[in-house]
Parts: sequence; C-alpha cells; structure tokens
Amino acid sequence: MRIGVPCEPPGQPLVAATPHTVERLARLGHEVLIEPGAGSQSSYPDADYEAAGATLAPAAQIWDCDMVLGTGAPTTDQLDLMHSGAIVVGRLDPARSPELLEALTSRGLTGLAMDAVPRISRAQAMDVLSSQANLAGYRAVVEAASHFGRLFSGQVTAAGKFPPAAVYVIGAGVAGLSAIGTASSLGAVVRGTDVRPEVADQVRSMGAQFVALPSAQEESSDGYAKEMSTDQEAAARALYAEQAAASDIVITTASIPGRRAPLLLDRQAIEAMRPGSVIVDLAAANGGNAELTEPGKVITTPGGVTIVGHTDLARRLPAQASQLYGQNIVNLLTLATPGKDGDLVLDMEDPILRAITVTRQGELMWPPPPITVS
Ligand code: NAD
Repeated sequence: MRIGVPCEPPGQPLVAATPHTVERLARLGHEVLIEPGAGSQSSYPDADYEAAGATLAPAAQIWDCDMVLGTGAPTTDQLDLMHSGAIVVGRLDPARSPELLEALTSRGLTGLAMDAVPRISRAQAMDVLSSQANLAGYRAVVEAASHFGRLFSGQVTAAGKFPPAAVYVIGAGVAGLSAIGTASSLGAVVRGTDVRPEVADQVRSMGAQFVALPSAQEESSDGYAKEMSTDQEAAARALYAEQAAASDIVITTASIPGRRAPLLLDRQAIEAMRPGSVIVDLAAANGGNAELTEPGKVITTPGGVTIVGHTDLARRLPAQASQLYGQNIVNLLTLATPGKDGDLVLDMEDPILRAITVTRQGELMWPPPPITVS
C-alpha cells in the first residue's frame, strides 16, 4: 500500500511518521511518501526520511496515496484530493465530528480514528491517548518548575537550608502518574489523589503518598472514573482545597470520558493558595479543573498564584510525541497487515480494528458496538 505523510497545519509540530517508523512501515511491505518539510518541526530532516527508504513527494501526490497518515483530522479541501476507497488515519475525534464523518462517507473514504483505540490490554501499544498523556504529565512538571521560581529538591547549604517543594497531583491516570514520577525524581515531596481507589498502590510505587477521598468510588470496571454525587463532589473539593493550600504546586489531570472536565479547585480554593504557588491544569482544553484556568494561557492571580493552561503539553516535546504517535500507528498497521506484504486487511471481527473504523469505503461505522473482550 502507498502511504502518504503530509505536512501538518501551522501550530501543529508533530508528524505522523518518523524516519524510524518509516523503516518499520517498509518492513510491513508498505511504500512511504513524505511531503518535504513534514518532519522539520519535530527535528526530523527530509534527508533522514530518504535514508530510511521514503520518497519525497508534493502534497497532491501525498493526498492521492492509498492511505494518508495525519496527527489530527483532515480538512475537506484535503479530503477532496483523496480518491474514493482511500484510507485516512488520524485523531478524528468521531464523537464530536459529525461533519467529518459525513465528509468521509460522501467521498467513499475509510476513516481510522487513532483516538478511538479501545482501552483494553491488547490495544495498549496502539493507544495514542496514553502515549501522549504520558508526555503531557512529564511536561506539566517541567512547566511547573519553570514558573515556580524555587528549587524542587530540599537543600542544606552553608548559607542556609530549604525544604523540598510540596507537589499535589489530582487524578492519577496515565498523565497524573507520569507527573508524580517526574516530580518525585526532581526531589519534591509528592502527594496524589484519585477517585478510583485502585490506583493507590500505583501512586505509592511512583514515590508519592496517596491521599484518599473521604468517600471514594467503588473500584472501576473499565479503568475510567464515573461522575460523583453532589455530596461526594463537595467533600472531594474540600479535600482538594485543603491539600492545595498546603502545596507549592498542584497538577490537575482529572477527566471523565465524554464529559466536561470536573471542577476541582474553585476560586476560593485558588485564593487560599500561597503566593508563588503554581497550578498546571491538564484539563484546560476540556473546560479546566480549576475555575480560573484560561485555556492556552498562563495567568497570575492577584494573590500571586500562577495557573498554567497550556493545551499543547505533549506537543511541547515534538520529537518524542511524533515518535510515540508514529509507533502507535506502526503497531496498529502491524495488526492490519497480517501477511507483512503491504496488503491491508481491516478485519471487522477484530475489536480494535472495528473500534477505530469510523467509516469504511463510504459506509458509516460509528459508533462501534461495545467491546466485550479485555
Ligand atoms: P483520564 O484521562 O480519563 O482521567 C485521568 C484521571 O482522573 C483518572 O485516573 C480518573 O480516575 C481521574 N479522575 C476523574 N475525575 C476525578 C475527580 N473528580 N477527582 C480525582 N480524580 C479524578 O484517564 P486515563 O489516564 O486516560 O486512564 C485512566 C486509566 O485507564 C488508567 O489509569 C489505566 O488504568 C486505564 N487505561 C488502560 C489502557 C489500556 O488498557 N489500553 C489505556 C489507557 C488507560
């Protein structure tokens, strides 16, 4: 299969294939065409792609390939360049993109949504939400450290001593655990909370203390948090406010699939934090976990609390974000190229391939049936 990798739009430094993943795609029997400059913002020069076996080609040829790999969703102008029956791969956000699904079906295209990979053990190597969340958690700590203006580790020097920074992480999923590990390794004293009680041991294993909620949820069956009752929410917010007031840095990562992010820190809780404290809100793009977060901005409150609302934390590590994203695609295409002969087989009996196939040669396939295996 001829696979095209286009340049991404301005402001999107990632690329859907790196020289390393191009080699892996070639080993599956695929031929890869790259638009010149596609990897430049991720520090992958054209020459490295050519050395890996890819061919440089202009945009029109890229979009005329049998399969086009992107990091987001294509525009309708780009879809107009594709031929009927071709396949587009990307983070297509199918639940919130009815117009895109319509554009794919009306053109007879197949859409594979990387952000619809099911959260089952077998699919872990293809899960772009996890691979990017892991980087976002790391980067959240780097951002916090650069705005914090003090050391993370405790110091004892001839001129005086400082205590270690106190970091509190709310939400101990993929991003939260990554933030906990990173902050611990910088020498901070870290605490973490999650509504899912089953993550307590994971929090401790990353070097943090687990702070339990007054009324925790039952162990989750699918790895995801459920919405809390009003009473549970009030009790949780009181705990978050108390912990935040005693912390230098708060990193919030709470989210519930398909919903606006839960509000964890209200204005009062933020105002009670010490001057110089920092909040990094990883849910900024989805409504924010802190009441005063401004998506895409860094603000400082009149009380001296800095709130980081970056919505592009993983993209701030573009070389590795691209490498992990590209590897997720390779792992997916390994499943879909069983003969390693360049022939793509989209087996709709396979729960992973079924879940990501949002349209198939013009047929609407979204939403997929519920997954019954794990
Ligand atoms: P997520 O981004 O949906 O949520 C982040 C965290 O916020 C979760 O741990 C959630 O419990 C927590 N949270 C939600 N509301 C909260 C609140 N009010 N207060 C405190 N915490 C709150 O989740 P995620 O990080 O993408 O994944 C969650 C879990 O799913 C992982 O820890 C893992 O166990 C599982 N998972 C499995 C796979 C797989 O098997 N392929 C892939 C990814 C994740």
